[in-house]
Amino acid sequence: MLTTEKIYCQLCLARNPSGEEYCSRCGMRLMLISRPAALRFEEEELAARDEYLLARLSVLESRVEALSKEVARLRAELSALLTKRS
Ligand SMILES: [Zn+2]
Repeated sequence: MLTTEKIYCQLCLARNPSGEEYCSRCGMRLMLISRPAALRFEEEELAARDEYLLARLSVLESRVEALSKEVARLRAELSALLTKRS
């Protein structure tokens, strides 16, 4: 399990194979801290959520546009009715 894991340098965050003792990029002594899987997952989730929100936003925008057209149409209808009654 551990052999396939990568170690992230705590200084420069470079990814190093778990067998290495020193960071291949900055030479910092590597501690056995791998970047938490939860954090990576969170980043991916955030990106996915951003995409989702953008998609949702454009749906909402087109809905608002349709609604404002509908409101304009109803207002015109209403004022037509009101002028007919008076
Ligand atoms: Zn480093």
